[in-house]
Amino acid sequence: MADTPKYYAGLDIGGSTVKTVLVDDMGEVAGEMLEVKSHVKDGFEATFGQLEGALDQLCTAINIERSQVKGLGMDVPAPSCEGTIWGKANLHENWVGTNIRDEFSKRVNIPVYMTNDGNAAALGEYAVRRKHLGGLMLIAPGTGLGGGFVLPGGRAHEGQNGLSLEVGHVSVPHREDDNELPTCSCGLKGCLEAWVSLVALRRRIGLELAKPENADHPLNDDSAIEEKAFRLRDFAQDGDELAISIFRQQAHILGYGIADLVRVFDPGLIVIGGGLAETEGFRDDYMNWIKEGFRERAWPIYQNSPIDPDRETTRFEWARGGDSSAALGVAFTAREMYR
Ligand SMILES: [Zn+2]
Repeated sequence: MADTPKYYAGLDIGGSTVKTVLVDDMGEVAGEMLEVKSHVKDGFEATFGQLEGALDQLCTAINIERSQVKGLGMDVPAPSCEGTIWGKANLHENWVGTNIRDEFSKRVNIPVYMTNDGNAAALGEYAVRRKHLGGLMLIAPGTGLGGGFVLPGGRAHEGQNGLSLEVGHVSVPHREDDNELPTCSCGLKGCLEAWVSLVALRRRIGLELAKPENADHPLNDDSAIEEKAFRLRDFAQDGDELAISIFRQQAHILGYGIADLVRVFDPGLIVIGGGLAETEGFRDDYMNWIKEGFRERAWPIYQNSPIDPDRETTRFEWARGGDSSAALGVAFTAREMYR
């Protein structure tokens, strides 16, 4: 049966959900994405059972045998190298030190490619840009500030120890009003993530609302800081000056930090992910503020070609892959590797 159709699965293991998808030999999504609640805190065996169940469900939904799945891509929300998880993050402790890639591959008898969630999302952005062959760096502001880097040709850059692209923890010189560097969730001072993340946004809102000049701001009510951070975007979209100034500062510092990453990696394309990618309208302003910060720090040659000034040497785009980006990214990589 030389012409039995082949498929490749993407398994995106997150802290709160597990997203799974199948792609066919042409790289087209086959069937629907399947999303289940994550049980990573119950140990890796519980997740393995979940993944196997999801894989069978995906196959049944499009009426194929599991033996037609020739490769699996998997991503995990923790630092890992060659299939072994190094750092615990939000996982049960039995994940750490286990070669998850090899153990799951043995269990299902299918070869497995594994990477971290940042690289998986970057691979997804690469996959949805079918005509893009150059490099791609993903920068994703969320609860923290994540990143991933795909080399020209489509492979993720893992680093020797799987610890590359910790973009949230490069340092920026920006200081608070009291002239101190902000403290990051990692314990260091002056990290980019201490300015550009949901955690940073909440801190900034708290500091700003405590100022006498903002005492009458409508956000100065009894709502929790999480709620205020959520509403800040609506305020910015409606033109509220305080909300805009907070986002503008955040985006500006992000651009400033990206300039140094570009100086190291010269990726050519920066893709900005995270929730703001979904906000039509407001996101155009946000992107302009990122570029403002970038231009402050990047030499002109990192912006436009001196020979052909119309050619941008570093382009900025919003993420397009959406929720299934990471699952798709690792599925595409499995297809490249095991077809
Ligand atoms: Zn840090």
